[in-house]
Amino acid sequence: MSTPDTWTAVDRYLVDTLVDEDATLALARESADDTTAGHIEVAPNQGAFLALLAQMIGARRILEFGTLAGYSTIWLARATGVDGHVDTLELEEQNAEIARANFKRAGVFDRVDVHVAPAAQTAAELIERSVEPYDLVFIDADKPNNPVYLAAAMELTHPGSVIVIDNVVRNGSVVDAGSEDPSAQGTRAVLAAAAADPRLSATALQTVGSKGWDGFALLLRVG
Ligand code: SAM
Repeated sequence: MSTPDTWTAVDRYLVDTLVDEDATLALARESADDTTAGHIEVAPNQGAFLALLAQMIGARRILEFGTLAGYSTIWLARATGVDGHVDTLELEEQNAEIARANFKRAGVFDRVDVHVAPAAQTAAELIERSVEPYDLVFIDADKPNNPVYLAAAMELTHPGSVIVIDNVVRNGSVVDAGSEDPSAQGTRAVLAAAAADPRLSATALQTVGSKGWDGFALLLRVG
């Protein structure tokens, strides 16, 4: 029978079989212990999925909302290659400091900038500075602000860019239109905004695994 334990066992099997998580990535994942939020990083097979996606589209510039210990950032930064660049946005200096140490150990420090401030503020500054558009955006910070982050991502990308929004299922709470959970409402609002935007082609998938029952939305800028 399918239970959270079997989901985790299958994830372990898939990761052991397919995913090349080296020692520095494993250390980065474990270092989330010392962050302000604990282990809310992506799973190794999800990190590898993000990296493959970045490689498939030849992403050179990546924007990430939500750094934590930099685990997903390292997967993404390695996928961009030595000429790539990742801007990752984090609220907490404590997490940014841990992430920077992980970037040094992983050999990607030179291609990653951690911006410590509310992500909406940093994103507005990036728009104001007219930075070169990003090829891929990973939205994985505070969920109530997801609509703000998608709106910013639309200002900071180009047709052909890919946007991934994490944690859009939330144990099924996303279907509750009357939910009092601001994260569920932020998720519903961002999915509605994606659906209403003719510049986006979108889908979302449910996932089970070591991170429980959740899912992600995958958006392609078609205009
Ligand atoms: N992407 C990371 C990974 O998979 O390794 C995990 C990111 S974690 C889910 C979310 C992060 O967003 C936390 O580190 C949290 O401190 C940060 N965060 C929360 N609110 C934020 C805000 N308003 N602005 C920027 N970062 C925020």
